[in-house]
Amino acid sequence: MKKLFFFVAFIFAMMPAILFTACDPDDSIMPEPEPTPETDTIPQQTDTLPQQDTAKPVVVPKMYNLTYHKVVAADSLVKYTTQVSVQKLESDFKWLADNGYTAILPRDLLTIDTVQPKTVIITFDDGYYDNYLYMYPLLEKYGLKAEINVIVEWITEERKNGWLTWDECREMSQSGLVEIGSHSCLLHNPSNGGSYILGGVNGVGRETGESDEDYIARITNDLQKSKDVIKERVGIEPIAFAYPYGEGNAFINKYISELFAVTFLTHNGSYNPKNDLHLLPRNTITMSTQLENILK
Ligand SMILES: [Zn+2]
Repeated sequence: MKKLFFFVAFIFAMMPAILFTACDPDDSIMPEPEPTPETDTIPQQTDTLPQQDTAKPVVVPKMYNLTYHKVVAADSLVKYTTQVSVQKLESDFKWLADNGYTAILPRDLLTIDTVQPKTVIITFDDGYYDNYLYMYPLLEKYGLKAEINVIVEWITEERKNGWLTWDECREMSQSGLVEIGSHSCLLHNPSNGGSYILGGVNGVGRETGESDEDYIARITNDLQKSKDVIKERVGIEPIAFAYPYGEGNAFINKYISELFAVTFLTHNGSYNPKNDLHLLPRNTITMSTQLENILK
C-alpha cells in the first residue's frame, strides 16, 4: 500500500513534465504566424496590373496573304480577273502603308515569334516582267516586301515572252525586298500555254492511269529541280511553293510539303502562322477587290 502511494505520488509529481513533454509542440509543425502586412507590401494604385493578376485575353493570331499576278500599265488594258493595273497596285500598296501594315516574306514565317497585328504577305504568281518593271519600285516607295513565285522553265537569261529574267530575279532577291519562290518548273499546264484546262489535269494533278510511283516521281522531280535551279540562279534556295491554280490533293500534298517549308493555295481566308505552314490560303486581288474588305 505504501508502495502504491509512492507510485501514485510519483506519477502526480511527474504529471506536469509528462504533459509538457507530450504537448511540447514541435517547432517544425508550428503554424507560421500570419504575416503582418507591411506598408510597402500593400499594392499601390498603378496604371498596370501586377503581373500575376494580368488576365491576358486569348488572341488568335490571324494573318492574310494577298495574291497578285500580272500588273498592266493602264486600267483600260485590264482584261482578266487576275490582272491589276499599276494604279490599282499602287493604291493598294499606299493603303497598306497608310494603315500601318507590315509586309513580311514567307521565310520570315519560319522564325516568327509573335504575330503582330496588321502583318501580311504579298505574293505575285507566275513571274511576269511587269512585276520587276512596275511592282518592284513600289515596294521601296511604300516600305513593303513581296514574294514572286516563278514558273522556273519560263524564266530565261534573255527576255522571253514578257517573263522575268534571272538577272532581274537575282537583283530583286539581293535587295531584300523580294523573295523568289517556286511555282514549279513545268507543272503549270505548258501544253495549254499555262492556262487552266477545264475538266482536265491541272497543276500537280495526277495523269490518267499514272501509278503512285510515277506520279510521285514526276511531281517531286519537277519541284526539286525548281528548287535547284532557283538556288543556282538566284543564290537562295526557295522555301515556298505556290500550287499552280491552287490545285492539290491529299496524296501528293504530303510529298510536296516535304520539299517546301511553306506552301500556298489560292482560296481566300486567314491563318495562324504558329500552326502548320502548308496549304496556306491566299486572297486573290482583282481590280474590284478592296483591301479593307479582306483585312478585318
Ligand atoms: Zn500561276
